[in-house]
Amino acid sequence: MANSVSKEELWDQVQAKFFQKLGPVSFSTYIEPLKPIELNESSLTLSVPDENSDEIINNWNQAYAMNFVEFAMEITKGFIRPNLQVQQAPDLSSPLASGPANIQIPFSRQSDLNPDFTFEKFVIGSGNENAYAVARAVADQPGRVYNPYLIYGGVGLGKTHLMQSIGNAYAKSNPEARIKYATAEDFLNDFTESLRSVEGATAAFKKEYRTVDMLLIDDIQFWSGKEKVQEEFFNTFNALTKSGKQIVMTSDRLPTDIPDLQTRLTSRFEAGILMDIQKPDLPTRVAILKNLSLDDGLDIPNDVLELIAEKIDSNIRSLEGAFHKFEAKIRYMNKPATQETAQQILNDLNIDQGYKVTVDRIQETVAAYFMLTVADLKSSSRKKDLVTARHIAMYLTRTMTDESLPDIGRAFGGRDHSSVLHATNKITERAESETRTRELLADLASEIKNGK
Ligand code: ADP
Ligand code: MG
Repeated sequence: MANSVSKEELWDQVQAKFFQKLGPVSFSTYIEPLKPIELNESSLTLSVPDENSDEIINNWNQAYAMNFVEFAMEITKGFIRPNLQVQQAPDLSSPLASGPANIQIPFSRQSDLNPDFTFEKFVIGSGNENAYAVARAVADQPGRVYNPYLIYGGVGLGKTHLMQSIGNAYAKSNPEARIKYATAEDFLNDFTESLRSVEGATAAFKKEYRTVDMLLIDDIQFWSGKEKVQEEFFNTFNALTKSGKQIVMTSDRLPTDIPDLQTRLTSRFEAGILMDIQKPDLPTRVAILKNLSLDDGLDIPNDVLELIAEKIDSNIRSLEGAFHKFEAKIRYMNKPATQETAQQILNDLNIDQGYKVTVDRIQETVAAYFMLTVADLKSSSRKKDLVTARHIAMYLTRTMTDESLPDIGRAFGGRDHSSVLHATNKITERAESETRTRELLADLASEIKNGK
């Protein structure tokens, strides 16, 4: 969705993939002559030179359109169709083809709300009903009931969608309201820019973030260990809440589980309300697929939707990705909307996503989750966060691979087998008594096997 790439960037990257797939001869005949004209949420318009347009268009209808959809999806995570337009000679080099001159926008270029992220398009189910209910209340009475509101949960489960729904609903009922959406990374970049550049930029930054009626900040785990931006956000936060303005945030975990996030921030967040989003159950996943197919004007039998929903249970983004691949097969390769076609997609996906479970894979995944490096896991440091991460990684290696205790010890910086045993026992105990540890282990194991 919300694609932040330009049409040129997207087409460049798609071309690179075509080149790899087709080799130089077909590439220069069928792909290279096309020029990107316009990119919107759902399609990229490409101009086809008039001279051999028939030949090019024939090939596109057969196979390349499907490839295009897949490549574009890998790049943008969204569903983008190719839209070929025959360009009458000779005006290719006119301003239309080269696009308007660069326009300078000072702050966070990706900050617009995505009009698709609405409450109406949000399927409510067991995993998200509480987060949804609070989101509705916040949209109805911003700054009054739940302030700040923080939505947390795993990747692809609908945090951004739900948060932007609040903004979209508020914008609809109060067209005058100033609503600012930014990722935590945007906020950091804008802040850094304001320090670096010309006089007046700091004032502009403050105006951008402190004079709004509602501030939506996505993925605040990004600020882990970044002191300066945390301090700046603390000030922004206070300025806004003091004047009764609503703040909504998302995070991939509880704020107290974000390493090196200042306690004065976490305690501010806990003074508001925190709600998690869990994985969707099967009926929710089927309902999401049903909506997607209706939106795209497709009539797909329930048994087919159920098959896809049953097999893809990790997150909603993957579910949508699989559905769009399925849709592309039906539209561009004339496949029937049957379980068999769905199964082909599922087979492809398993090949794409299956990771071989190795010590390296486990160490990389666990390190990334705890925002550490693999070297940290292997080091002798006894820092609390780090020790927990190391123990979890050892536990997962012990339970997910056939490595022996001494081998695991060696893979973790030359420790001896008794430290591995100690670590696995500790984690086993914690998993028995704490739901959160059990969930964390299950999430990590799934990410190790299937990716995010
Ligand atoms: P997150 O921010 O948690 O990583 P997103 O909000 O980006 O996840 O959601 C991923 C995709 O799944 C988006 O395309 C979003 O529209 C869709 N999605 C998530 N939750 C739902 C839902 N409950 N109903 C319909 N679509 C959803
Ligand atoms: Mg998100």
